[in-house]
Amino acid sequence: MNVYQGKSVFGGIAIGRISIYKKGEQQVKRTKITDASAEIKRYEEAKQTAIEQLQGLYDKAVKEVGEANAAIFEIHQMMLEDDDYQDSVKNIIETQQVNAEYAVAITGDNFASMFAAMDDDYMRERSADVKDISERLISVLAGKNKEKVNTDEPVIIVADDLAPSETVQLDKDKILAFVTVHGSTNSHTAILAKTMNIPALIGTDMMLNDEIDGAMAVVDGFNGKFYINPDEETLSEMQKKLDEEIEKKKLLQTLKGRENITLDGQKIMLYANIGNIKDIALVRQNDAGGIGLFRSEFIYLESEDYPSENDQFNIYKTAAEMMAGKRVIIRTLDIGADKQADYFNLGHEENPAMGLRAIRICLTRPEIFKTQLRALFRASAYGKIAIMYPMIISVDEVRKIKEIVEEVKKELDEQNLEYGEVEQGIMIETPAAVIMSDELAKEVDFFSIGTNDLTQYTLAIDRQNPSLDDFYDSHHPAILRMIKMVVDNAHKEGKWVGICGELGADTTLTKEFLAMGVDELSVSPGRILPLRKIILETDVEKYRKGLEC
Ligand code: PEP
Ligand code: MG
Repeated sequence: MNVYQGKSVFGGIAIGRISIYKKGEQQVKRTKITDASAEIKRYEEAKQTAIEQLQGLYDKAVKEVGEANAAIFEIHQMMLEDDDYQDSVKNIIETQQVNAEYAVAITGDNFASMFAAMDDDYMRERSADVKDISERLISVLAGKNKEKVNTDEPVIIVADDLAPSETVQLDKDKILAFVTVHGSTNSHTAILAKTMNIPALIGTDMMLNDEIDGAMAVVDGFNGKFYINPDEETLSEMQKKLDEEIEKKKLLQTLKGRENITLDGQKIMLYANIGNIKDIALVRQNDAGGIGLFRSEFIYLESEDYPSENDQFNIYKTAAEMMAGKRVIIRTLDIGADKQADYFNLGHEENPAMGLRAIRICLTRPEIFKTQLRALFRASAYGKIAIMYPMIISVDEVRKIKEIVEEVKKELDEQNLEYGEVEQGIMIETPAAVIMSDELAKEVDFFSIGTNDLTQYTLAIDRQNPSLDDFYDSHHPAILRMIKMVVDNAHKEGKWVGICGELGADTTLTKEFLAMGVDELSVSPGRILPLRKIILETDVEKYRKGLEC
């Protein structure tokens, strides 16, 4: 038996045979041509075919993994249309009088290295996408289809790395797990694997060789272990774990439609966090009671200029309508710090996490804020829209926001534009807001605790810096005490409190949150049913008395 360690991107156990996935190896030769315009035409036609193939993959992925995760194939289509990329290919064909395959291969390599050298993690990961589209173009030019796994027995796919288009082309009924030697946690492949509910390991410290093709193996997505030719003891231990997993998954499905209520009758709302209206399909599939955090800044990040009132109105209206009367809490733009949009021209800051961000931008540039508020209020005529303000530190800020909101409502009245009742809440994500929560509770309809930022500001630990992981204690008693304090202060004023930071999805704390009286947990859609299970099995009173852990 050989045991290797990888990094798990999705839990679960898989037992089966290995199938080594090899990319269709593309040997690109440099050939001299005589008619550059005919070669450019050949390239244009190949590009068109590649775009059609990607559209097919997009349609397939939408059905299997939802729109949000299929989006990568739209991105690939856009990359193929990118002017710089196209100019480079055509330029090489014309100036060097060479074949299109070669021009694409050179362009692909150059662009991939350019992305790989960028500081930003997201941009670095795009390097694999450029390689992927270039390989696709070369395959089309060579008259080949991209290779597919062809197997009858479900297998564990082992690969050096898998491009998103390769992952989605695989017949998912025949795949038990993915194990790759390379890959990064934030890559689209990792995200797709998670959504496909397949155990997946990346960065596995193994050598790929043909000898292991067809060998029996076990993937333990809980601890990142990959066993090749497992001994009997390991196999039976893993089989037991797998049986338990299958039972758990079946059970979770039966929880759809159930109320989130504890054994002793305490109710809690389970909502979903989203960044795009495309995620609403997943919200509904996982039976969320509403949307607890719609990170509206993604609308700004995806735009090249300030999104107009109407563009925003259409997005918020769609969300309200799709959620059909369920609460949709939209957070006003949280731009700044790690989320930068160039057109805001925010300038360089020494300490961006503590800089001009979120509500501070809205209060200093009220015209941007008002556009968003107008869109939100107008959308409230179509469903249950609630608004939440990020990064609040004082009562004064909330009062200023309220003044601006009143101006917006007055304008809408004057223009005879309809709007509904809109609940307004704030995020509690700064220590100042925690301390002031007794007074803030008098001013707002609800609180939502942003534990991601609250932890960073309380522990003075940059949430973006992986080298501080050992110091980052998300269960730090200071954080837990703060949550309790906020809940008590809100309840004194008859207001409800949720948690929309990552801690809300931490199942080891669910009982503690119930005992504290937290009213809502807003988590990524896939975490709803596991949380519901715990809630249904908890007796909060017994837990409080220490009779249950
Ligand atoms: C938070 O800070 O916990 C939060 C939910 O907001 P974001 O992660 O978008 O900063
Ligand atoms: Mg935050």
